[in-house]
Amino acid sequence: DLLISQIAAGEVVERPASALKELLENSLDAGASDIRVDLEEGGIKTIRVADDGAGIARDDLPMALARHATSKIESLADLERVASLGFRGEALASIASVARVAIVSIARGERHAWRIEAQDGAVSAVEPAALNRGTVVEARDLFFNTPARRKFLKTPATEYAHCLDAFTRLALARPQVAMTLSHNGRVMARYPAQDWQARVLAVLGDDFARQARLIDEAAGDVRLYGWAGLPAYAKASRDAQFLFVNGRFVRDKVLSHAAREAYRDILHGSRHPAYCLFLKIDPVRVDVNVHPAKTEVRFRDAQAVHRFVFHALERALAGNQSGSEAN
Ligand code: ADP
Ligand code: MG
Repeated sequence: DLLISQIAAGEVVERPASALKELLENSLDAGASDIRVDLEEGGIKTIRVADDGAGIARDDLPMALARHATSKIESLADLERVASLGFRGEALASIASVARVAIVSIARGERHAWRIEAQDGAVSAVEPAALNRGTVVEARDLFFNTPARRKFLKTPATEYAHCLDAFTRLALARPQVAMTLSHNGRVMARYPAQDWQARVLAVLGDDFARQARLIDEAAGDVRLYGWAGLPAYAKASRDAQFLFVNGRFVRDKVLSHAAREAYRDILHGSRHPAYCLFLKIDPVRVDVNVHPAKTEVRFRDAQAVHRFVFHALERALAGNQSGSEAN
């Protein structure tokens, strides 16, 4: 019922950015190659995600909004290797319990699109609609029916900043997907489909690109690749530190400590290095299911991972080949 959904929603939908992350992951799960996000008022008023993915068939639309209808975890083995990004089967239902949701979608092979709406636990009939490809999910007036939670939202500017973070992390993780973000009608970020090197530089910007070193090292079945900013590009904040494990953005003490150590002798004062590093590791050597909505991982052999990342980064920072630094 609605109350249970709203309580469950608390775990998934804390603020506009968490709803946006779920919608983006759904678009990626659907095989989208082009995703457009439109936000209004930091996502509090509107979050709209349009994709060109596989779409949702007419008969599946009501189920897409039902709780636990679509959980893809069927065994412990699934939990061990969460290949797909979405696996809880309740994000849309949770969002629909705390916002006004409309989905328009056209599955491949259908002659036209269909639309469904949900509000306050009530799901509308499925109606014919117009859309050429993919899916558009719109969530409006977040927490309109849960004032206590709405009170915890910050200003639109702050909520927008969190949405931008969520968008940026997925943009870094999925460079092959074209992604556009607009806020209050203005395009804030636009990335074409590109390789990971170009995507990272596009996200982190020209100043970073001029002061960054490329890393790509493998040892056994572990690979670390990415761009590491030189000390000259260090920042006052940690905003430009991105770590990904098997394609998921993570906050991880082992990895960030290894990075800090690699910079220790070359970066002085209170400034922070900028980097975007991707670690690929056999999924059985890392736990990602600490909490589905969190971004933590636990390595089975943290010391080996630490050593590998530290040395790879240290070598890259000491080496003399670099990005555009050579000019
Ligand atoms: P989950 O992603 O965990 O299955 P969600 O509540 O996020 O649960 O989504 C429910 C279902 O709705 C998905 O399993 C998928 O079948 C469908 N769906 C949601 N968003 C999209 C989308 N953008 N494109 C295609 N199908 C979608
Ligand atoms: Mg999902």
